[in-house]
Amino acid sequence: MKAVIFDLDNTLIDWKDEFIFALENVLKELGLSFSKEKIEMINNAIDEVENHYEKLTKKDFLEFVNRMCKVNLSKEFVDKLIDAQKECSYFDEEVRDTLEYLSKKYKLYLITNWFTETQEGRLEKAGILKYFTKVYGADINYYKPSIKAFEVILKMYEAKDCVYVGDSLKKDILPALNVGMNVIWKTTEENENYQTIKLIKELKNIL
Ligand SMILES: [Mg+2]
Repeated sequence: MKAVIFDLDNTLIDWKDEFIFALENVLKELGLSFSKEKIEMINNAIDEVENHYEKLTKKDFLEFVNRMCKVNLSKEFVDKLIDAQKECSYFDEEVRDTLEYLSKKYKLYLITNWFTETQEGRLEKAGILKYFTKVYGADINYYKPSIKAFEVILKMYEAKDCVYVGDSLKKDILPALNVGMNVIWKTTEENENYQTIKLIKELKNIL
């Protein structure tokens, strides 16, 4: 094994309510007062964008959210959201220790379906950005589960020398298997078909 490729959300950093708080704050800063329902609708639309495009662009993102929610958010909204979400992170010593261990043996990469800048900010805040050779967001790469998102790694390594670690069977595990990578599924489910872990620290026993 030469490279370990990670998903970010719910794999290395849990996805929490702080995303909707960041959204609320940005809307407030822009002087936009929407109902709680409308904010939830915008939040859901933001989650949905990845299912409709090949790559993430600010333009498509805005058009989609504006159309779905019948609002008229500006580019300033996206820029502020990208910034505000950098705070959506937390420090997990076990994850940091595991990445420290792994980074001494392998090259580490990250493939994520969000803006690279936000994700790098969150990794930085968690003190783990330094362990990654490169972070590929969907704005500089492709959305998972397209296998195109994984091909960026295959330009550097043979698939058999890579292991992909993620929490989503559909978006992470199946496409990684499809391109021939080894996989480790982070899940609480019992599963005999794939190698699984419940906690990131278990990687130290496997890799
Ligand atoms: Mg995930």
